[in-house]
Amino acid sequence: MTTTSREYWNEQLETLPWTEVERWQAERIAPAIAKIRARSAMYQEMFADVPGEVKVLRFADLAGLPFTMKDHIRAAQDAATDERPLGDNQAAPLKSIVQALSSSGTTGKPLYYGLTARDCEVFSDAIANTWFTAGVRADDVVAHLVGLPMVAGGLPYADGFRRLGATLAWLGGFPTDRILREMRRLRCTALLATTSFGLYLSEQWDTVGQETGIPSRLGKVLCGGEPGLNQRDIRDRITGGLNVSHLREVMGLGDVISGMWAECERHEGMHFNAQKYVAIELIDPDSGDVQPWREGGTGEIVYTTFDREATPMVRYRSRDHALVVGIGCSCGRTSPRIRCIGRTDDMLIYKGMNVFPAALRDLISSKFAGQVQPMLRVWKETKDQVRFDDPISVDVEAVDNLSGDSAETLRREIEAEVRSQLQIRIRVMVLEPKSIPKSVYKTSLVAVRNG
Ligand SMILES: [Zn+2]
Repeated sequence: MTTTSREYWNEQLETLPWTEVERWQAERIAPAIAKIRARSAMYQEMFADVPGEVKVLRFADLAGLPFTMKDHIRAAQDAATDERPLGDNQAAPLKSIVQALSSSGTTGKPLYYGLTARDCEVFSDAIANTWFTAGVRADDVVAHLVGLPMVAGGLPYADGFRRLGATLAWLGGFPTDRILREMRRLRCTALLATTSFGLYLSEQWDTVGQETGIPSRLGKVLCGGEPGLNQRDIRDRITGGLNVSHLREVMGLGDVISGMWAECERHEGMHFNAQKYVAIELIDPDSGDVQPWREGGTGEIVYTTFDREATPMVRYRSRDHALVVGIGCSCGRTSPRIRCIGRTDDMLIYKGMNVFPAALRDLISSKFAGQVQPMLRVWKETKDQVRFDDPISVDVEAVDNLSGDSAETLRREIEAEVRSQLQIRIRVMVLEPKSIPKSVYKTSLVAVRNG
């Protein structure tokens, strides 16, 4: 167990009791809502349906406002004009918007968000806070391994590292061999990558890196952007392959702020680090009712930006489902600690049973660790398929080359395990080692057969 460092980026807000943080936020939410209503055509229309006046006096009053869904954002985007390329939710004039950001576009057309100079400040401060909680410090040389500047994990992450004072080494986008070599030559002490890319790097870290003759100085690894770090096996592979003990999960949302959650030294769930700019609620995804932040609670995270000029979000449904791991922490931070357990977008229905592909992966890769690789692939027939009446096809990748008989035994064991644990039927295909491609940005757990 590491000793508690008791160092914070924003000590006052990070250590204030959470109810007081919400009170502090409520004072800022009320004027923010008035501004958003005046400037965003999308919210003008949405709030027109709210009976009476839109008033947020206490934090709990937020629940009286309607949710913003991804479809609202899509429709607002489609209303783009020459003056308002960001559409109906563009709440600042074009001349004050300094940057457009893109969602990753893994589900449908990419969506765009804008940042004013003030928004850039807000982003970099919140993201720096997130990196600080994840243990990055000013004397770190950080290999930033997301290669696309325009996505939320691109330039905003880079700005967060610079704001923190760390040395940014933006190696993302170069071929893997070059990344591995240059990380040694630049004496990188930290890296940030998607979980699947972190895993991919860890497989070849030493073979390529050692050719430089320079010993690795890597000590801190930040991964996220997709589920995976909930699993012991994936964590062990990354820390083992990269030879580090400091591995922290980080998470954000491009539509809100791309880096908001990070694990502290306790490694038990991610703290929220954007409380200075963003309010969070936990809701029951079916009823929409607000749930209390309590240990063991689950729900969908809803975000409200109360310090965002260009493209604000009020009660934005993230579709991220979280498990609250704990409230309060030995590190002194008061924000809830969560694990992301899946996304509504990914949810599949097998004969009326809901199943997250991530849950399939968590079960299979922990139960069959050492036999199959932790990254697997779930097949849909078409892009829009959600319901399955036949067993769901799942490819797993064997760790070693298996004989036909052993592969057949493994296949049957996995199918039986999933049936008994999750009450759903899957059809497993055991593939040879290294047959599932691992992408540099995000590896999709779900593949489409006729896409
Ligand atoms: Zn903590």
